[in-house]
Amino acid sequence: MLEIKVLTLFPDMVRAVLETSILGRAQAQGQVRYEVTDIRDFSVDKHRTVDDTPYGGGAGMIMMASCIVEAVEAVRTSDASPVLLTSPQGDRLDERLTLELLAEAESEGEIILVCGHYKGIDERAQDILGMREISIGDYVLSGGELPALVIVDAMVRRVAGVLHDAASADCDSFTAERDGGLDCPWYTKPPVYRELAIPEVLLTGHHAKIEQWRQEQARARTRARRPDLLGEPDAKIAPER
Ligand code: SAH
Repeated sequence: MLEIKVLTLFPDMVRAVLETSILGRAQAQGQVRYEVTDIRDFSVDKHRTVDDTPYGGGAGMIMMASCIVEAVEAVRTSDASPVLLTSPQGDRLDERLTLELLAEAESEGEIILVCGHYKGIDERAQDILGMREISIGDYVLSGGELPALVIVDAMVRRVAGVLHDAASADCDSFTAERDGGLDCPWYTKPPVYRELAIPEVLLTGHHAKIEQWRQEQARARTRARRPDLLGEPDAKIAPER
């Protein structure tokens, strides 16, 4: 079973999301196990301090190296376990990187995600731990909790058996089924809403034709919205196992 360990100053915020919907079900079904650790427990003084002002001056607070280093060392079961630091300066997350991180996590049996906060963390934590920095996009958030949860959600829905038919990842955007491009449009009941009828082909019951229509729609959308994805070797992205 894959162990996912999140180190944060806001454990309640992280737990709330991990207990909900598909993420929560994955743990209930025994496919993953979450462990959320409060970095504050690794403070060394009686005020439970975890941050201080930056050397050299400037605005903002910096998380101390010792809390992070000792928290990571306490939770990891092996030096080989992947440790990710959420950071706007890291490798940008996409579906391909998600599957790469998941494969590494599954082969080691665990993955550790560190949430920064305030102005960031003392660089020496990184010098000591050599964490892989992962960004969820070119914007700055106030903390690493949302990015860590984004990374966990993207990974867990690709763990074998987590998604059933109700939310299948089979032909979502960026999968091999979609040649690394975007998904097609989808419709459900009723067949007419505010005078808008669903495309007729979907009512024919002709599976091959429907599949062909969906592929065409998906390709047209990719061309219109994300031409950068066309012709990318993204077809390497594995379908859900
Ligand atoms: N001074 C840093 C930003 C710190 S933001 C800089 O300019 O690069 C505080 C924390 O939020 C970071 O330590 C990181 O853990 C998290 N964070 C903010 N934006 C993020 C992003 N786009 N991706 C991943 N983590 C992010």
